Amino acid sequence: MAVMVTVQEALARFFKLGSVLTLFGSVHMLSLLLEWYVVSSDTVARTSIYGYNVAETLMMSIVAGLTAGLGLLVSTFSRRVRTARLILASLALLGGVLALFSPLYLMFIKIPRLSVSGQIEWGIFVSIFSAIALLAVGALVAMTRLGERPSPRPSYYGRAVPEFQTTQVPATPVTGTTVFEPVESVTNGAVCTICYQELGPEDTMKCSSCEVLYHRGCIDSWVNLNGTCPNCKSVAET
Ligand SMILES: [Zn+2]
Ligand SMILES: [Zn+2]
Repeated sequence: MAVMVTVQEALARFFKLGSVLTLFGSVHMLSLLLEWYVVSSDTVARTSIYGYNVAETLMMSIVAGLTAGLGLLVSTFSRRVRTARLILASLALLGGVLALFSPLYLMFIKIPRLSVSGQIEWGIFVSIFSAIALLAVGALVAMTRLGERPSPRPSYYGRAVPEFQTTQVPATPVTGTTVFEPVESVTNGAVCTICYQELGPEDTMKCSSCEVLYHRGCIDSWVNLNGTCPNCKSVAET
C-alpha cells in the first residue's frame, strides 16, 4: 500500500510526520524520568529503577530521541523529495529501533543479570509505546510515493482533447463535400474542436459529412481559410 502524493504534498506530509516524530521522540526521552521497574523483596524496602538509572538505557533512549528530532530538521530543509523521504524514514526507523531496544534491554538483559525480583512499571510502557510510534511514522514516510501525473492526450493542435470529444470523432476521414448546418440541440459539455470552448445550441454548426460540431464563428473562419472541415477534410460547399 502506497500513498500517492505530489511533490508539494509530499514535503508538507514529511514536515507533519517529522513533527509527530519529534513529539514521540520527546515523549520517549521524558519516559526516562518515569519508574520503569520496581525491585521488591520481603527484607528490603521498595526500590525504583528509573529509565535514566541504567546507563545503556539512558544512552539508547537519548540517541533515539535526538535521531527523531534530526528527522524533522532534515525534512524541513530538504527540498528534494526522494532524499527527504530516504533520510526521514531512515532516521525514524533507526530511532524507533533504538527506542524499542532501550526498555527491552532493561527487561530482558539488565534485570535478569541483577538477579532481583520485582515488577515492571508504567514508565516502561510509555517508553515502548513511543518507540512503536516512531517506527509507525517511519513506515508512513517510507510508504509515501510520488504520484504520476497523467500525460495530456496529444492532438494535432498541440492541445489536450477531452475523452468524450475524441471518442465521437470517426477514425477514418470521410472524403467528398460537406455543408455546415445549424443544430437544434447540443449535448451538455460538448466542446468545439477548433477553440475548445463549450458549445451552446444557438451558435453551433454541424458538418453534414462527419457530424462533428463547431461554433458558427469558428467554422466560418476556418472554412474561409482552408475550405474544408477540420475533422474529415471534406470540401465545404458554398
Ligand atoms: Zn466533417
Ligand atoms: Zn469554437
